[in-house]
Amino acid sequence: MKKLAIVGSGITGLAAGQLLKDKYAVTVFEKAAKVGGLVKCDRVADNLFHRVGGHVFNSRRQDVLDWFWGFFDRDKEFLKAKRNAKIWMQGKLIGYPLENYLSQLDRAVVDTILEDMLAIGASGHARKPEDYPHFEAFLRGNFGDTLYNLYFKPYNQKIWNTDLTQVPLGWLEGKLPMPNLKQMLLSNIVKQEEGEMVHATFYYAKENGSQFIVDRLSQGLNVRTSTPAEKLQAVDDGWLLNGEAFDKVVFTGDVRTMHRLLEAPDAALANAAGAVQHLPSNGTSNLFCETDATDISWLYLPDGDIQAHRIIYTGTFAPSNNRGSNRMTCVVEFSGKHDRAFMEEQVKRLPGNLTALDHNYEPNSYVVQLTDTRQQIETLKACLEPKGMYLAGRFAEWEYHNMDKAIEAAMGIADKL
Ligand SMILES: Cc1cc2nc3c(=O)[nH]c(=O)nc-3n(C[C@H](O)[C@H](O)[C@H](O)COP(=O)(O)OP(=O)(O)OC[C@H]3O[C@@H](n4cnc5c(N)ncnc54)[C@H](O)[C@@H]3O)c2cc1C
Repeated sequence: MKKLAIVGSGITGLAAGQLLKDKYAVTVFEKAAKVGGLVKCDRVADNLFHRVGGHVFNSRRQDVLDWFWGFFDRDKEFLKAKRNAKIWMQGKLIGYPLENYLSQLDRAVVDTILEDMLAIGASGHARKPEDYPHFEAFLRGNFGDTLYNLYFKPYNQKIWNTDLTQVPLGWLEGKLPMPNLKQMLLSNIVKQEEGEMVHATFYYAKENGSQFIVDRLSQGLNVRTSTPAEKLQAVDDGWLLNGEAFDKVVFTGDVRTMHRLLEAPDAALANAAGAVQHLPSNGTSNLFCETDATDISWLYLPDGDIQAHRIIYTGTFAPSNNRGSNRMTCVVEFSGKHDRAFMEEQVKRLPGNLTALDHNYEPNSYVVQLTDTRQQIETLKACLEPKGMYLAGRFAEWEYHNMDKAIEAAMGIADKL
């Protein structure tokens, strides 16, 4: 068998390994002490702490679902739940997405939102998302200035921490509700549920959440944990990874590190790898807390005077997530790096009488895609693939992939190989 090295044991690397292990002798290199990348969880006093956010699974693609369920007994090992998202704004709980719950806002605000919407309709500007040049133009043009200033601007500035005019729309399509004017009005009148998002319903493991998924997907694979890929050298018939010979490499790590991992690259490859080394990303700090019981799964926090942007009530996903506590557990997510004392002070202003159990900082949670990012990644791929190296995954392709898209990316590589 030919030898394949996979860099990274996140969901992309493990999926690629499973898809290719019958065709190649696969070795997975993982720099961390355990598998899972962003979806890793730890038990804290027997409660489940998703160290980055909270991960639930679903996919719109039947081939992804079929492949995934080949590893699990869906009915015995997973729970299925309906997404119950809400917004906490100016001390009030409001339905999500906000534009569908206008009756819950103050009357004066609703008046101006309606004026905005009538003006958008009258100007013939009820355009499709892809007609807007960037994310800010879409949010303003599609929802009007009042909703933009009240919710979309403060929320998105917190989470993306970047100039929204630099964010191309194609990047976010399918990940956010993007209703047109008629759909918004209809939702308010006939109270349509949030049904189109990929996680409107989702699956969640009964025990150990997303760690259960990656632990299962790593079975039967040769995974070397605590073993970073430090050097990648193209040779005539393949690659030397840390000096060891492989025929092919699938790289699922951070593409920004490629330029320093590559030894003696040719000029085109050096330029392509150099071009992506400063791509922006955002880190997140998570405070794992006990909370009063709730049936909300995600609570969005747009108010500018609270640094946290979201509470993920991971305790609602599976009862075993709260096993060590007589309360429920949740994760409060903050953009950027914050110490525990600051976060504990902040959560006093949030609902649920939150008390902290643990915290974590992840320097790279969200990729920020700029207008030329996709082109730069394509150029790099075009240099690497003829040499037998393939990029796949959230930070390797700089895409806003969820787990299902990460699996799709791995499937795409498996097809090529
Ligand atoms: C807050 C948050 C919430 C989310 N919620 C959901 C959700 O509910 N559902 C969902 O489907 N998706 C969700 N996602 C997205 C999901 O986390 C990603 O799709 C997925 O984890 C990406 O997997 P990956 O393998 O591409 O990357 P990663 O998970 O980043 O894995 C890359 C791996 O490569 C390793 N690595 C990097 N460099 C090297 C090296 N040089 N040598 C060896 N190893 C290396 C890393 O240690 C890591 O283990 C969420 C993401 C965030 C940030």
